[in-house]
Amino acid sequence: MKKIAVLLLLIALCLWQYERTFIAGDDPFLRSDYSKLRPVKINRVIPTKEIKQLQEIVSEAREKELKISIAGQRHSQGGHTYYKDAIVLDMTPFNKVLAFDEMAKTITVQSGATWADVQKYINPYGLAVKTMQSQNIFTIGGSISVNAHGRDIRNGSLISSVESFRLLGADGQIRNVSRLENAELFPLALGGYGLFGVIVDVTLSLTDDEVYEMTSETISTEAYSNYFLNQVKQNPDIHLHLARISVAPDSFLTDMYATNYSVREELPVTNYNQLKLKDTYVLPLKFLFGLNRSFDWAKNAFWDLQRHFLIGRSTILTRNNAMRSESDFMDYSSDTKNDLLQEYFIPVEHFEDFINHIKPILQEEQLNLLNITVRYVNHDEEASLSYAKSDMFALVCLFNTPLSKAAQARMTHGIQRIIDQLKTFNGSYYLPYAPFPSVEQFRTIYPKAEAFFQAKDQWDPQHLFMNQFYDDYRGH
Ligand SMILES: Cc1cc2nc3c(=O)[nH]c(=O)nc-3n(C[C@H](O)[C@H](O)[C@H](O)COP(=O)(O)OP(=O)(O)OC[C@H]3O[C@@H](n4cnc5c(N)ncnc54)[C@H](O)[C@@H]3O)c2cc1C
Repeated sequence: MKKIAVLLLLIALCLWQYERTFIAGDDPFLRSDYSKLRPVKINRVIPTKEIKQLQEIVSEAREKELKISIAGQRHSQGGHTYYKDAIVLDMTPFNKVLAFDEMAKTITVQSGATWADVQKYINPYGLAVKTMQSQNIFTIGGSISVNAHGRDIRNGSLISSVESFRLLGADGQIRNVSRLENAELFPLALGGYGLFGVIVDVTLSLTDDEVYEMTSETISTEAYSNYFLNQVKQNPDIHLHLARISVAPDSFLTDMYATNYSVREELPVTNYNQLKLKDTYVLPLKFLFGLNRSFDWAKNAFWDLQRHFLIGRSTILTRNNAMRSESDFMDYSSDTKNDLLQEYFIPVEHFEDFINHIKPILQEEQLNLLNITVRYVNHDEEASLSYAKSDMFALVCLFNTPLSKAAQARMTHGIQRIIDQLKTFNGSYYLPYAPFPSVEQFRTIYPKAEAFFQAKDQWDPQHLFMNQFYDDYRGH
């Protein structure tokens, strides 16, 4: 009898989890983004096809006093791609490769192209992207507008590999923008969240595709900074690196594992360079990750499983394959909840202290933290809204949260307490995510924000290019 009851309970649990994982309700919102928060009514969405069309839209918006928002894949989470009553430009059809120079290792692409498009084009030539997110699903325009970063620890944030771009401004003019031409606009539009106009196309510098051996090892949060500085950064063979911090109750914020990609020059790229098309084990991982959202035992099991699959194993793969999606299993559909990212940058030397300070906050606030990935970004303050104030670790935190007003207020409270800790350690946070930090926190952490918004007034006096991020953080 007892056995049957347990069996029935297990079946019910599996059915419930199956429904939550695979059966999605319709999106009930008008226009939002990946976050599903704060939907608003917009004027219309226009798929972008050509430059002349873009110029006509800008001149129509100017005459009719309409606003324009710019959208790539809409994976930002703070209303960066839409605005009340605005025309929304869907840049994704605007995705051609315009020029490629194999010898100079450069490519020029329209801004709606994704990293996947770029990789597909350059892979046969033995070339690869220098810096991009850990997934290849994002548009180039969306990525340079947030100044993305990823697993590469040698090439800096994305801004370092941007040679130039063309920008369609509020006055309808298209300007070449580089470090030499219209140089004032370079650090404003790059990492400028679409507020300075439409980035039409971009020239990126590339690097060689190469073969890596991927290995992982366990480490404690206490030892991680020294490990990174002495064994990873000092080792010229390691080109890509990431780490994960345990969010499992049994090892919460104490255990980590680090994954390094070390170059294997003796192995020919052509033996390994077929581009990976699909992630493996997506369905079972998706199921388990779903349980991880709801149960502490599943968090422990998921952490053990990750380590079991990675520690002590070695995988040979190319750079282009290392820089492709590995998180289809995290896709999530629920009408009432969502997985939201927040990301904190902390100077390498303060990593352990910061972890020790946020641990009680996360526990007291009972935020449902699903994952923390750690990346490294080196000091780079070229962009006006740059996050890399020194050599820093980026802690990418994934929270599962209800979308209700009450739950969002709880998130706001918890996140603001974390940001207060960041301030004391001279850290910063990433801007493409939901606007939980306060205006005051934003202004302290981004001291160049005032100059950024003043430059916006100068280049776009009518405020033609708008989004919710502007309203949230302009401040007055
Ligand atoms: C699951 C997930 C994983 C992520 N991983 C990483 C990561 O590893 N590293 C990292 O740095 N970030 C990461 N991010 C954040 C991501 O890089 C940004 O959200 C990025 O903007 C997404 O690109 P997108 O094409 O979706 O841009 P969108 O969200 O569509 O747009 C982002 C911003 O760019 C502007 N924009 C878009 N196209 C143009 C254009 N042509 N001209 C002018 N402005 C434009 C938009 O107006 C908006 O302000 C991640 C986000 C998610 C959801």
